[in-house]
Parts: sequence; C-alpha cells; structure tokens
Amino acid sequence: MGMGRVVAAYGNMVTVSFDESVRQNEVAYIMATDGTKLKSEVIRVRGDQCNVQVFEDTRDIRVGDEVEFTGDLLVVELGPGLLEQIYDGLQNPLPKLSEATGHFLKRGVYFEALDRAKRWDFTPTAKVGDTVEAGAVLGSVPEGKFQHQIFVPFNFIGRAEIVRISPKGLYTVAEAIAEVKDEAGQVREISMVQRWPIKIPLRQYQERLLPDQPLVTGCRIIDSFYPVAKGGTACIPGPFGSGKTVLQQIISRYADVDIIMVAACGERAGEVVETLREFPHLEDPYTGRTLMERTVIICNTSSMPVAAREASIYTAITIGEYYRQMGLHVLILADSTSRWAQALREMSGRLEEIPGEEAFPAYLQSRIAEFYERAGFVRLNDGRTGSVSVIGTVSPAGGNFEEPVTQGTLAVVGAFLGLTWARSNARRFPAIDPLISWSKYLDQMRASLDKVDPQWLAMLKDAQGLIFEGNEVKKRMDVVGEEGTSLADFIVHLKAEFLDSVYLQQNAFDPVDAFNTMERQAYTFKTIFKVLGMDISAKDKDDARDIFFRLSALFKNWNASAWQGEDFRRYEAQINEFVRG
Ligand code: ADP
Ligand code: MG
Repeated sequence: MGMGRVVAAYGNMVTVSFDESVRQNEVAYIMATDGTKLKSEVIRVRGDQCNVQVFEDTRDIRVGDEVEFTGDLLVVELGPGLLEQIYDGLQNPLPKLSEATGHFLKRGVYFEALDRAKRWDFTPTAKVGDTVEAGAVLGSVPEGKFQHQIFVPFNFIGRAEIVRISPKGLYTVAEAIAEVKDEAGQVREISMVQRWPIKIPLRQYQERLLPDQPLVTGCRIIDSFYPVAKGGTACIPGPFGSGKTVLQQIISRYADVDIIMVAACGERAGEVVETLREFPHLEDPYTGRTLMERTVIICNTSSMPVAAREASIYTAITIGEYYRQMGLHVLILADSTSRWAQALREMSGRLEEIPGEEAFPAYLQSRIAEFYERAGFVRLNDGRTGSVSVIGTVSPAGGNFEEPVTQGTLAVVGAFLGLTWARSNARRFPAIDPLISWSKYLDQMRASLDKVDPQWLAMLKDAQGLIFEGNEVKKRMDVVGEEGTSLADFIVHLKAEFLDSVYLQQNAFDPVDAFNTMERQAYTFKTIFKVLGMDISAKDKDDARDIFFRLSALFKNWNASAWQGEDFRRYEAQINEFVRG
C-alpha cells in the first residue's frame, strides 16, 4: 500500500505527494488530525504529485497529513440485500448512517453496503468438479420476488474448478459458499458478495441486441408518441417546476421493468428527503406490495460533497448492470444529471483545467456519452436476455435547451422528452412538448408496435401531423384573430386541441388515468383517431367549439373509468353514438 503526504488543499481538492506509483482513480484515505480517515479518489496524477478529490468535509486537513493509497478503484459491493436500500453516492446505507450519527452525516464514518449479519437461503446450482469462470452462476438466494443469482466474481481471471460448494442452507453474504481451484492450482474462496469498479462497465454478456421492445411507462404521450425501448435511453430536459420529478416518479411506479434504480443527484435537499419519505410507501401496481421491494435509491443532496455526487450515477448504473446479469430488466432514473454535470464542472475548475462551453470541462460530452452507453439490451452468456434502460432528467437554467448538458445528452440518447414552461404553465401535464420531442425507437420497435395494431405507425404519423398543423393554425390565429380564421382551419385547431387534451395530457394524480396499458392506449387511440377523421358539420365556430367541448368531457370521463368496467362501457357507448352521428 503506497503512502503520501498532503502538500496543498483547495476545497475538496487535495494535492498529495507520493513515493511509489499511484493509479488514476484509485481510492486513497487522508488521515485527518482528529484521527478520522477521509475517503477520496485520485483524479489526476502528475509526476510525483497527484490530486485527490475528497468525498467528505475537508475542514482541518493540514499540509503534512498522511495519505494512504489503497491501489483499488472506487467499487460497489454487489450481492443479495441491495434491493430496498437507500444509499449515498458511495453506497453508504443512509438510514444506518443517520441512526449512527444523527441527521448530519459525520465525517469518516463508513458502513458495509450489505448487511453482514443477515442470512440468506442459498441453493447451489453448480457442483463440485464443474469448470467455471468469471460470471458463472453458482447458485441463488430469494430476494424479494426474484432469485438473486450468486456469480463467480466478475473480475476472476481464467478458468477454475469447483472443489467445494455449500449445501442448501442459510449463509451470510461474507461466508464462503464455494471454493475453487484456479489455473495456478491455488484454492480460492467465493462468497455471495463481490466488488466491481463503478466506472468500468460490466460486460459479461455475449452481445448487445438492438433495443426493439417497448418499455411501457403507462404514460400515453411517451408510449404512443415518443416511446423508450427496453435497454434504451431517454432524456427529460425541462426548466425548474415543469414536472421532471413528478414524471420520473410516475415512470418509476408504472414502468414494466423488474428493478428500479433511482439516482437522485443533488437536487435541493428538501426534494430528496421528500423522495425518501414518499417512496417506501408507494404501492407496486403490478404486485400490490411495496414498490421499494424492487427498488434501490442512490441519493445525494447538494449539501453532500461534489465528488460523492459525481460518483452516484456510476454507483446506480453498476448495480443496475449487476441485476441485468440475472436476466432482469432494470430501469435507471437519474434526476437530475445537471447536478452531476455541475459536480464535474466544479472538480474540473479546481483542477484548473481549460474550460469548455459554460465552464464545463471539454470532456463533458464524452462523460455523458459513456454513461448512457452503459444502457443496453443484452444476450447473456447463458442465452437469456436482460436490459438496463436509462432515463435522465436535465434541468437547464431558464429552460434554455441550448446549453451543454442538454445538447450533450440529446446527442446520445434515443428519445428526447422535452418539457416546456408553455405547457406546464398552461397545466398541460405531463408537460412533454409534442412539438419538440422525438424518439428514434419508433421505427426500431416497428414489429412490436405492429402487434399492438398494424395501423399503429400510420395513425401515429397522422396524429403527429395534426398536432403540427393545429399549431400552425394557432400561430396564424394569434395574429389575425378567430374572425380571420376559416371554419375549416378552426376545426383543425380544435381537433389538435382535442387530441392533446384527451390523449397527450394525463392526470398523474388520478389512479386510473395515471397508467394506461398498451392495450388500453391502442383502444383509446383508435377511437380518438376515428373522431379526428370525421367531417365535423358545425354551423359556426361556436358550434364547433361546443361539439369538441362535449367530446373532450366525454373522453376525459372515459379515461378516468376503470378499464372495461361499467362506466367505461357507458361512456364508450356515448362516444360511439357520437361517432355514428
Ligand atoms: P421539476 O422537477 O421539473 O422542478 P416537479 O416535478 O417538482 O418539477 O413539478 C412541479 C409541480 O408541477 C408539482 O409539484 C405539481 O404541482 C406540478 N406537476 C408536475 N407534473 C404534474 C403532473 N403530471 N400532473 C399534475 N401536476 C403536475
Ligand atoms: Mg425536480
């Protein structure tokens, strides 16, 4: 283990001189005067000095303080017991931390990420004599409703032979459940917990597949108009208060995935606390149990040190990749990636690097790309499939999408769900603006969508066209007034408004309307499509307005009625009566 000494400190950036070699991104501990060991990461090495970013409050660090280099990269612990946890960016369990140190996190206090006392019911699937290598499955333990698989560590080098494997029974994560003899003839113990460096993608799979299956969120404007694929990526940029967090919460609740990873990075402290308070009580709409049972929350508030914030999204995605290894579908929700980018900017500033646009480091774009590239739909080595999807919010100051984080993100994601003030101020929720949003997955998912309805894509393109046409009419009408607009144009405007209000908008707080299955979306959309295709014979504009007003009310009631229930049937009958004329 290498040693060094503090030679300078600037905020959380500490310069350390060392004798032996130091590795980029290795973890180091600074021995503070009060005896605490402060965790940090080497972020730049130059000659016989390096810069370390401290994950803690750096008050009273002094020149001359001793530094211990570990030689290990920043890692997460992987194993049973991750689900239901609330961690900080360095995988410290937050509830435990606050129990031990009160609400103000104490310096230098670290906990094991996984409970060392809890015993898990292990069932072996491999046997003595089997030849295994990194990522091979040794057995499993039940965790929530999943079979959590126990792997040969992903960093195991070469092949090995199993010489002992524990029988079915209860074991703690740190107990050896198997022994293997490696190629050098050395016997090594394997437990249920392993470590993996957070900044290195876990690539234990045969191949990446084209994401062509929808990730159903239950949100109509997303699933029908701007869908996200399983294993795909999306960004949700939006100004402050436009509904990013509410949208993320809805998606986390209803998305048809196995595991939800929430990375709450550095939004205001109050907001994160709110997430933490609410989340454990949310009911899982698919199982009726708690949503937390299949959730991991990684949370950092802006009051926590920037380096921990920078680490948090990597911690989240690494845990996501781990569960993907079990053939599961994982969704990572990062809210907000702008806070993460700000952490990068702060760190870069302290390193006095040459700043790029808006003082972000020149490598911002590549860091964003590297993060989103870890999403993917993969075929695992045993032939099963699994996915990690990533949806990140971006909070550009003043809602200006021309800034580097939004631009850097939209260059790499597959879907862009842009929230605007125009819509949120008009209380058109979710405030995803159909005029600026897009998804590259529509064509990719064609086969799946054709199964929902062979006419799906064609209808959709028409409906999108109508939204734009309606917007053109509206813009002209803003200039020439309603009087100067023809009845035919006015009806185009009303049709677009109707589509918007009964389909694109959705009430997040209505238990029925909040979530639509694809089946229901297709059903509703086809009916709406019929209305859009109708010749509306209105006497005048007031008459036309009146017709659409009644229609909208009818469809809203329909949307709020339980699928195929009595009310649903009743409103549907009234709608059909209208369509027949
Ligand atoms: P952001 O995270 O973009 O700053 P929030 O998600 O916190 O914004 O939303 C701000 C407010 O807007 C919410 O408190 C809520 O009142 C309203 N809101 C947002 N989304 C919706 C929605 N889908 N339905 C109804 N109200 C919403
Ligand atoms: Mg928010």
